[in-house]
Amino acid sequence: MKRSVSELKLLAPMALIVVVAVCALVGSLWMWADQADTLSRNREESLVKLGLNQMADDHALLMTPITIWDKAVESTHVKYDKKWVKDNIGGYFESYLKFESNFLMDDKGAIVFAYRKGAEADTQSFDGISQQAAGVIKDLRTRFGERAARGLSYNSDSNHVGRLIAVNGKIYIIGVSFLLPDSQDPKLLAYKPYIAVGTHELSQQELVALSQRYMVSEIKLVQPGQTRPEGSAAVTFRDDSTGEVMVELVWMPDTPGRTLFVRSLAPVLMISLGLGLIALVLLHQSQKAAQGLIASEAKAKHMALHDALTGLPNRTLFADRLKQACERLNRQGGQVSVMCIGLDRFKDVNDTLGHLAGDELIRHNATKISGIIRSGDTLARLGGDEFVIIQTDTDGLSTAALAKRVLEVLTGTVNLQSGQVFSSCSIGVTLIHDSDVEPAEALRQADLALYRAKDLGRGQYAFFEVEMDATIKLRKTLETGLREAIHVEDIDVVYQPQVDHFGNIVGVEALCRWTHPTRGPVSPSYFIPLAEECGLMHELGSLVMRRAMTDSHRWPGLKVAVNVSATQLRRASFVGHMRNLLAETHTAATQIEIEITEGVLLNDDTTTQTVLRDLRHMGFSIALDDFGTGYSSLGYLSRYPVDKIKIDRSFVSNLGVDPESEAVIRAIVKLSKALNLNIVAEGVETRAQKAILRQTGCQIIQGYLFSKPVPREEIDEMMRHDRRLTISDGNVDGMKQVS
Ligand code: C2E
Ligand code: MG
Ligand code: MG
Repeated sequence: MKRSVSELKLLAPMALIVVVAVCALVGSLWMWADQADTLSRNREESLVKLGLNQMADDHALLMTPITIWDKAVESTHVKYDKKWVKDNIGGYFESYLKFESNFLMDDKGAIVFAYRKGAEADTQSFDGISQQAAGVIKDLRTRFGERAARGLSYNSDSNHVGRLIAVNGKIYIIGVSFLLPDSQDPKLLAYKPYIAVGTHELSQQELVALSQRYMVSEIKLVQPGQTRPEGSAAVTFRDDSTGEVMVELVWMPDTPGRTLFVRSLAPVLMISLGLGLIALVLLHQSQKAAQGLIASEAKAKHMALHDALTGLPNRTLFADRLKQACERLNRQGGQVSVMCIGLDRFKDVNDTLGHLAGDELIRHNATKISGIIRSGDTLARLGGDEFVIIQTDTDGLSTAALAKRVLEVLTGTVNLQSGQVFSSCSIGVTLIHDSDVEPAEALRQADLALYRAKDLGRGQYAFFEVEMDATIKLRKTLETGLREAIHVEDIDVVYQPQVDHFGNIVGVEALCRWTHPTRGPVSPSYFIPLAEECGLMHELGSLVMRRAMTDSHRWPGLKVAVNVSATQLRRASFVGHMRNLLAETHTAATQIEIEITEGVLLNDDTTTQTVLRDLRHMGFSIALDDFGTGYSSLGYLSRYPVDKIKIDRSFVSNLGVDPESEAVIRAIVKLSKALNLNIVAEGVETRAQKAILRQTGCQIIQGYLFSKPVPREEIDEMMRHDRRLTISDGNVDGMKQVS
């Protein structure tokens, strides 16, 4: 809809331009046509005028055979001969020159003879034309005088003048001529000449002939007061003194311009319309192309600043928004918070359910967070499972409130297309008061706080404190060191014996050890979670498993327990991987016990059940480590294929101190007997603990009381001594605890 409105906005003026252009073109054509018609009319008027004058002149010229003749001077001036005058000026002029009225004017300008239609007439009849005739006679005298002035003798040309005059609504040809001798007789030349005057009324037939001669339409006489047809051409006769119209000769002139205009109008309109349509189509197309360009530019711009998966602002836009928020701090004061959100164990989802499930979870969480932030705040995705919120105009309390809300909405079971996952997050926050803080620094601080939140046990938020810097730096150092150590296999595996009450070794637990080149030994309680977070757990686990399988050959008949983390177990390829390791090290699965923690069973999914069952089918036995610490539900034990329970050290260490611990152990022992499970007590350090455990019915113990975890060579030694251990008094592991 938006698009069509904007198209109309452009098309309407374009259509208007086309209409105006067509009007201008038609208007111009009309103007040119009119000009052509005017030119044509003027030309016809000039032609007709010329034709009329020619006609008058021809009449006058025909007078000269009579008027230039010695006899004419002799019959008038010398001795007036009335008969000659009547025959020639009267009869001859009427018969041969078609002059109906003829007059003779003497040398004093008086009319001495008048003739009309075959008979002598009253000389006063000249009065009707005297005014017009005076002008013509004046012209004759001028013409005659001009030639004489040049010293030339007169000839037939200078001796006559023919004109058209209008009298009483009629048009006459008037011819005037001097009566002169045709000889050069000085006697006759000395006379001041008489003048012959003849008039002929122009007939309609003569006008028709004139029309045909000059190829114009029929010429008609129009009297003053009669309406003249519009667009007609005319030769107008006016009164010389008043300028009043006396009569007009009128005809309809040819209109070549108008004819051409009418003929060309339809094709011109059609061509214009066609061109207009083409222009509109081209405009529409170019507009569409322009819109396409604008859209793709906007898309490219959007993509440069937004995350493709969630459509949220990316790192670049985040930095820009944070900069703006900090600049506002300068003007308005207050605080801005930067909140880093990391999804807990997101790697597990990717590893076990695949990347599509991981993407789905990211999108789900992006929607959840978007739903709770204010419109002025910014939610960005920086990559992986890391989101960040910029909260403007805030303080510690409202930032903490937002962090709690985020924890709330992101914690819980999520139904993904590929299965159900339990999702939670950890949050690190920093509050900025100072507008000079760089976005990178603010992000680093929030990131440090996020590490702290994860360290504190995930599912919580932490505010940045200055001391965090050192902790995180150390963590980074250790992360790099661990990665390198795994890469070069600089990881040791030690073994702790599991014994019966007589000290007979019944099994060993493989435990990994890592010594940092500068910081010394690092506790597995620190580097195992670190390996999980950095995505190194699979390689580390494989390394330990391969070593344990290889070493198990040294102690035939002795089970080697290996700790396997949830991350490893949830990998779809884990069972196949174990099969490969067995083949690679030529080991029987029955030699190996897999220790899992309750956490593995917590996400009560069918995949874990299947994996455990497959492993058990292959011959591995399964032990449930640290039993009693987590959310142990007896239900798990019947549902999962577990062979052994390892009572957590915390219960054992409280024996003799907290009576409840003894009660719990008794209950666990009873339960395991009922379910036909083996039972091991971990962390047995004193004879007293051993004694109580024996009373409760727990037969197998593992702890410093008999042996700390030791290198394989020491186990070799122990095995050589009848597999029997004596109680040792030292109970210090000797490892450095890193916190
Ligand atoms: P865990 O599997 O419960 O291992 C037993 C831990 O208790 C070991 O700590 C062991 O040294 C300690 N321990 C045994 N007897 C005593 C005692 O009498 N007194 C005291 N105070 N401690 C005793 P360690 O080796 O530091 O390992 C800690 C945890 O790290 C292990 O707990 C296990 O969960 C994990 N871990 C160690 N190696 C691996 C490994 O290769 N893979 C995995 N996934 N986890 C491992
Ligand atoms: Mg263990
Ligand atoms: Mg344990």
